[in-house]
Amino acid sequence: MIPHSKPAFDETDAQAVANVVRSGFVVEGDKVRNLEGEIASLAGKKYGVAVSSGTAAIHLSLLSLNVGPGDFIALPSYTCSALLHAVGMTGAKPLLVDIDPFTFQIDKTDLEKKINKKTKAIIIPHPFGLPVDKEIFRYFDIPIIEDCAQAVGARYEKKQVGSLGDLSVFSFYATKVLAAGEGGIVCSDSETIISKIRDLREYDNKEDYTQRFNYKMTDIHAALGLSQLKRLDGFIERRREIAGLYDSCFSSLPILLPPKIPHRNSIYFRYIMQIPDNMNVEELISTMQKNGVCCMKPVFKPLHRLLNSDGFPSTEKVWMRSVSIPVYPGLSEEEIEIITSSIQRISWPGLGLGQK
Ligand SMILES: *Cc1c(COP(=O)(O)O)cnc(C)c1O
Repeated sequence: MIPHSKPAFDETDAQAVANVVRSGFVVEGDKVRNLEGEIASLAGKKYGVAVSSGTAAIHLSLLSLNVGPGDFIALPSYTCSALLHAVGMTGAKPLLVDIDPFTFQIDKTDLEKKINKKTKAIIIPHPFGLPVDKEIFRYFDIPIIEDCAQAVGARYEKKQVGSLGDLSVFSFYATKVLAAGEGGIVCSDSETIISKIRDLREYDNKEDYTQRFNYKMTDIHAALGLSQLKRLDGFIERRREIAGLYDSCFSSLPILLPPKIPHRNSIYFRYIMQIPDNMNVEELISTMQKNGVCCMKPVFKPLHRLLNSDGFPSTEKVWMRSVSIPVYPGLSEEEIEIITSSIQRISWPGLGLGQK
């Protein structure tokens, strides 16, 4: 079975982790500080603060902006449920926004329409590795948390993804392009925001009692992240190569391929196809499963569905039609061939059965 995603670990990664373990110093230390510096520089920000996950990074970002009960946080409905949980942890309410059905990014018009005086921040993810239109980051007079969990190392023209928001967050979960097992980072140019998050992520040795928690990253995770970071350019290059191959193999099929936009090169965290309205995503996924390929819905369930609300037409349409197929550096040529031929053999409407 070809898994849907798989981390690109090698012997140097294993050595990096083993070295930390052998040193006997495994908790937050030099490795964490190095990773903070490296990611901040990759994101084009002055400071970075490492935490236990991407979800924690969003939660602490919101707290650093003094978000709490009575506030609203704007975010797209078609995204990872981590965002909803992070907002919920602060006591604020989510203000869900529809997406652009082609790029999957938050819909600016819908955002403009829904935003109100109680909207304290906007969370803008770069969906599936494609950098979001940077105009949106300048348009609103509200702090923006740029969610780079799926777009580490991507660029918008010459600007680094991570440099566009007031705060930017990253995730190093095992399925992400840069994997450290678990972990996250918040980057910002604001010393006030960063020192607040540094304070909130640990409870020990404090003079006063205010609500804090244990949100620290370990040096074991950071060493793995640092080791992976050395190969990030290669990871992205290989993902783009595989995506290019898929693009050419699938160009004659009746599917909407991932968007290609000048100066906004995707790093292909996911390769997403939108299938015709008269086909069924679940059926396609189960056919691929029978061929030994694990495909998935890119978003398990849109946030408005989790909250039992409606009125998100583009999110609904994209959710019903989208399939994510494996795209990661560890795929062998043989596996890529199995994936492309399985997709080509599907009985696409208008092409007749079993097209070869
Ligand atoms: C994975 C992800 C997160 C959450 O990161 P974790 O490290 O899993 O907590 C947040 N936002 C987006 C867009 C993600 O893809």
